[in-house]
Amino acid sequence: MIISIDGAAGTGKTSVGLLTAKRLNFQFLDTGKIYRAFTLKLINNKVKSFELRIISKFLETTEIDYRYEEEIEEIILDNKNVSSLITNKSVEQNVSQISKIPEVRTKMTTLQRSIVKGKKFIVVGRDIGTVVLPQADIKIFLTASIEERTQRRLIDKKGESYQNVYESLKSRDQIDTNREVAPLKAPKGSTIIDTENLDLGEVSDKIISLIHYEPTI
Ligand code: C5P
Repeated sequence: MIISIDGAAGTGKTSVGLLTAKRLNFQFLDTGKIYRAFTLKLINNKVKSFELRIISKFLETTEIDYRYEEEIEEIILDNKNVSSLITNKSVEQNVSQISKIPEVRTKMTTLQRSIVKGKKFIVVGRDIGTVVLPQADIKIFLTASIEERTQRRLIDKKGESYQNVYESLKSRDQIDTNREVAPLKAPKGSTIIDTENLDLGEVSDKIISLIHYEPTI
């Protein structure tokens, strides 16, 4: 069984997804971390988002592995655990430009499908219910106002100003929503949950309530 959770940054996808995976004893995959890891690789090698030929080469040689064990996520880039590096400012500023490149998406989509194949997974991202796993059993689309999402992000990003966080979210929203391939949008057949005034547990309860257990006898 697959539950997909899509939505913009700060809608609570990862926190809700992790909690729901724990409650249901499902595996968990945060696809944003995969795009972030590849972006980190390009930044480390001083590759710019318009250098498409170089990016193609890096796509062939880069190894990204995602592990989720005992409720801990680890993202491995070329055999190195980069979990603590992929939230840095320069990754944040570049990830949406890199993620809109069609070749990058093709490679990451294949990787994501291979990770979840045949297992019980909660998968979070921007295009999971629309492109990566349109056959998901339950598709969720989370929303919240940009002001609320900025407030939530400020809790993690200590020392950053409200305005900087707001502008960074706005810029990513704009690129993610308007790109040609796999733009951020509510998947067909999805349940839209406005998380503005709900806590994590309440959103998770709503998702779990959508599961229909078929009687076996
Ligand atoms: O979810 P997170 O904020 O970590 O995602 C970082 C970026 O990765 C997004 O802003 C988006 O550009 C890209 N992304 C994507 N498709 C996904 C997941 C993330 O394009 N399925």
